[in-house]
Amino acid sequence: MKSTEPLVLVIEDEPQLRRFLRTSLKAHGFAVIEAETGALGLREAAQHVPDVVLLDLGLPDMDGTEVVQRLRTWSRVPVLVLSARGEERNKVEALDAGADDYLTKPFGFAELMARMRAALRRAARPEGPEESVLTQGPLKIDLALRRVELDGQEVRLTPIEFRLLAVLARHAGRVVTHRQLLTEVWGPQSAEETQYLRVYMTHLRRKLEPDPARGRFFHNEAGVGYRLELTGTPPTEPDIQEPNS
Ligand code: CA
Repeated sequence: MKSTEPLVLVIEDEPQLRRFLRTSLKAHGFAVIEAETGALGLREAAQHVPDVVLLDLGLPDMDGTEVVQRLRTWSRVPVLVLSARGEERNKVEALDAGADDYLTKPFGFAELMARMRAALRRAARPEGPEESVLTQGPLKIDLALRRVELDGQEVRLTPIEFRLLAVLARHAGRVVTHRQLLTEVWGPQSAEETQYLRVYMTHLRRKLEPDPARGRFFHNEAGVGYRLELTGTPPTEPDIQEPNS
């Protein structure tokens, strides 16, 4: 094993999915270690200090959410959750517990690679003042000066719109759950007020998307949260429309 290969820990009890991940990841220059239970996964994580963890939510001995909670007491390693359809609630719990992102089974390898690259990029980039300006295409966000430009023109945002954009921008490339956004922008007493988000995301899209109907920067992850894509990587799934409820 070359020391430059990023090390991936796969915590997954389905042998077929483990085999698929092992084969494909190794073919793309990753080193892979595997665990089939949460307890073994936590032990491997402590022993081998992986660069990224792929974590199944439905493990034989414990919930994936519990694995994230325990891992987060001592590690900041990026965690991508692998969830089956119908596990929306567990997925949100895992993200709120500190997981970085998720993939819904069955997922394509290209999508997995895009999520892994984004996670590794974020992990490799320490937060600091050099990060206070985020630029992608026509969008420029100066977090320190609280200034936003689209095509070189300043866009006026209300304080709440700016705070919402800033939270998404600090987590660019990963999904941020409704609860995380509401808590950070409006405060913990508003953690359930998802209608605030619907209203303010509409404002942000109208002011900042080159084509508000097509969603280039702001992606709605139905039932989970929102994702701001500033990396230039196009989304691999069609953007899901806002629910009308
Ligand atoms: Ca499973």
